[in-house]
Amino acid sequence: MAITKTNFINYIRCPRYVALDHLKKEKLDSFVTLEEYLKEEEEDKLKEILSSMYDDEGNDLIDVTNEHLQVMLPYYNKVELLAGFIAPKYFKGTFKYSKDTKDQESFDCKINGIRYLCYVDIYNEVDDYFNIIEVKATTTKKYLNIGKSYKDDFGKKKIHSIFTLKNGIYYLREDLNNIDEVMSEKEYFKYKQKLFNRLDPAGHYIYDLAVQRYIIENDLKQNNMSDQIDKIHYYLAVLNSEYIFDGEYLGSEPNYKTDINGNDIVSFIDLTNLTKEYLDRIDLDRKRVELYIKTLKADKVPIGDYCENKKTTVCKYKDICWKFIPKENSILNYIDNHHGFKDKMGNLYKRYDLINDGIIKMTDIPVEYLNREKNMIQYEVVKSHIPYMNKAKIKDGIACITYPIYHLDFETFPCPLPRYKGEKCYTQSVFQFSLHIEKEIGICDKEKDHYEFLAPDHKDHREELIKKMIKWIDTNSNGTILVYNESFEKTRLKELGEIFPLYKNELNKMRNMIFDLMYIVKTNSKLYQELGYSEKEAKLFNYYHQDMNGSFSIKKILPLFSNLTYKGMEIANGVEALVAYANFPKLDKLDYEHKYRKLVEYCKQDTWAMVEILKGLRASVK
Ligand code: SF4
Repeated sequence: MAITKTNFINYIRCPRYVALDHLKKEKLDSFVTLEEYLKEEEEDKLKEILSSMYDDEGNDLIDVTNEHLQVMLPYYNKVELLAGFIAPKYFKGTFKYSKDTKDQESFDCKINGIRYLCYVDIYNEVDDYFNIIEVKATTTKKYLNIGKSYKDDFGKKKIHSIFTLKNGIYYLREDLNNIDEVMSEKEYFKYKQKLFNRLDPAGHYIYDLAVQRYIIENDLKQNNMSDQIDKIHYYLAVLNSEYIFDGEYLGSEPNYKTDINGNDIVSFIDLTNLTKEYLDRIDLDRKRVELYIKTLKADKVPIGDYCENKKTTVCKYKDICWKFIPKENSILNYIDNHHGFKDKMGNLYKRYDLINDGIIKMTDIPVEYLNREKNMIQYEVVKSHIPYMNKAKIKDGIACITYPIYHLDFETFPCPLPRYKGEKCYTQSVFQFSLHIEKEIGICDKEKDHYEFLAPDHKDHREELIKKMIKWIDTNSNGTILVYNESFEKTRLKELGEIFPLYKNELNKMRNMIFDLMYIVKTNSKLYQELGYSEKEAKLFNYYHQDMNGSFSIKKILPLFSNLTYKGMEIANGVEALVAYANFPKLDKLDYEHKYRKLVEYCKQDTWAMVEILKGLRASVK
């Protein structure tokens, strides 16, 4: 068992990880086959996809199971194949890629009795130099969003990225001597620092590529080929967030040819100079890993960012090391706890430092450290066990809702590769909606007033879905479309309107009818200031209960206002819903009909939950 790239990235977390992994020192210089290597990397690659799928949604990915990961595997394999297929457009020479060829290029080096190994996703040989291209199913957005934000002539927020495009390949601006007046050098280098943080979503892949480079260079040195080192260029191949699929298919498969704006579905980012800068740090990390292996101490260590709590990359030993942290109302349940806490003197206390010092429960924290009003509310509620409620704000929020109320919820499939015309990579492709219509206060029957649409298969059913919404939602009714977390539904309606201009007008009217039920519980500063509240009061929560544990998600709010529960449901969250839908083509008739019913049941529960929450809120302020 040699140390692979994935092992290395995990071993560097902390000494305890290495010890808990039951490393057998004597086995650390053996060989690893491509099959074994890929098996090890697979789970990580799939987690990569899931984290990109839920980038913006803050979804709870803790419960992701192997089934969730496996359903995404074909998409990942396809991304790798597409990268290999598109690479010759940008690079000359010969290419070795794809695990199917079984001849992926590998490099390995032996340092202090330990073998380090990596396989290369795309190995490109050109006359007298080489390109190493690592494929990641993330998108260019992650990199292009690093930079200075500014407003364009139309007042729209834009980002002047530290990366820039030349001949179809992205480079750091400094590599092209292209740091301009929009961003000073000082600012540029400040933004660039993000790339050196291996725990940052963008920095993670740079670290991965730098470890790759470290192994490759040591392999060459040990084989007396040091003269080759400067002849190698290092790239990431990632999905192009600008690419728009034109809806053309070859048979039943999408044909991802260059789009009308000249974009390819995969983009390449040159990280040759950046990974070079990284090598000294990797060497230090390698020494640390060796020390951890030498000492193999499984003693308790302080917890920290490296545990990667709440990320798909969470450490697999978290349950062991974090056992002393209560699941409910620990200081990690304080909203915005990632910013740390400050006392009156402005001294900053980081969350993990506090925990490692024994300040664990919400009520353990000295009150003077709570410099955010919302945290103060949380503290008081947990200490007193009495919920916080601003009845006047809740009442005024409810008064903004007009009838009929259309309780609406979408289910989506954020597929890494666009499936239908007009979609981009990771577009939240709507495949289902549920609608409960409440004609007057409290007049809504769970069955009779329920309407839904669920795509029966993976063909493009978006137009049908739009037509059904238009049929059941009367945009001239002066009613309200009630959703939970409006930005999601608003963005989906906007995207559908852009792809289907025929319905744009109606879909825009629907957007304008949207009201967010979460505002009534959580607040919305702009809304409540418009309703006459002071800025200070408008910013504060309307409601907080100790069972919320710092979350305003619908799943947390529902039990506080209703007896309705998702417990025992076969499909009980959004990830399970998309897995069920993604598996449709694989199911036999009986299983398909069963899953179809369960999906309808789940989505229906989501809108019925809104009916119940609103009912509970109304009753609580009577
Ligand atoms: S959970 Fe944290 S402390 Fe425990 S092994 Fe993992 S990284 Fe180390």
